[in-house]
Amino acid sequence: MLIVLIVLLTFNQVYNWSKRHFSDIGQILVLNAYYTLVAFPFGTYLLKDFWKSLIVYTVLFIFTTIVIILIYQVTEDVEQLLNRATFDSLTTLYNSQKFREDLDKFSFTDVSYAMLVVDVDNFKDYNDKYGHLVGDKVIREIGNQLAKMHQEDHTFYRYGGEEFVILIEDCSGEKATRLANEIHQLIGDLRIPIENGEVLEVTVSIGVAHRINKESLLTTFKRADKALYVAKENGKNQIIIH
Ligand code: GH3
Ligand code: MG
Ligand code: MG
Repeated sequence: MLIVLIVLLTFNQVYNWSKRHFSDIGQILVLNAYYTLVAFPFGTYLLKDFWKSLIVYTVLFIFTTIVIILIYQVTEDVEQLLNRATFDSLTTLYNSQKFREDLDKFSFTDVSYAMLVVDVDNFKDYNDKYGHLVGDKVIREIGNQLAKMHQEDHTFYRYGGEEFVILIEDCSGEKATRLANEIHQLIGDLRIPIENGEVLEVTVSIGVAHRINKESLLTTFKRADKALYVAKENGKNQIIIH
């Protein structure tokens, strides 16, 4: 009993110490070493041979360490794959695949959603004039601004090149309009310094649509996209609510 108590008490200390000093894989390896050390005297007692026990526990320790590292690498790879399937690498917002999945998923609910489709005006000009890396920087900066506006009932996606979609749980019908105005203002105020010393300004056009009854969210999205098209036709840099 005393031995079990000592093991339990020291386990906590070893665990806390490893937490302070090592990453997640490091902590697991420290605990593996700790358990091997704790088990070693018992093994020696049972085998009644110190050297035999030392060899057995050394081999066991090496084997479990290798298995832990292999499992860790596999889970890291799987996590990376899952991240790539869900998040956009340029902005860290959700990507278009996740958007399509969510459209399907949320279409089954009764929640009153609203959708914003945000598109950068004349984005091609930035690419043509300053190159694609500057174009990427513009997209990244806009993504950062949108990410800052994150709230529990807002979900931000980078839908395509310079196009973003925001899905909002919106029961009153006012939230979407307010958010569209905030985004329009925020992006309009954005100043993006680039390497040649110039400071770029950007404007966006925004289409807004509210889910009618229990229509599929794809239908809502199509209406928001149509509203965006109207905003472009009307001269860009504006919000149109369908
Ligand atoms: P509009 O005001 O009508 O939206 O015009 P626009 O120039 O913004 O739109 P258009 O669709 O003509 O051009 C979008 C460009 O965005 C074309 C494409 O090469 C570029 N693009 C798409 N994805 C990326 C990306 O990830 N990085 C960069 N730098 N450019 C991209
Ligand atoms: Mg555009
Ligand atoms: Mg576009």
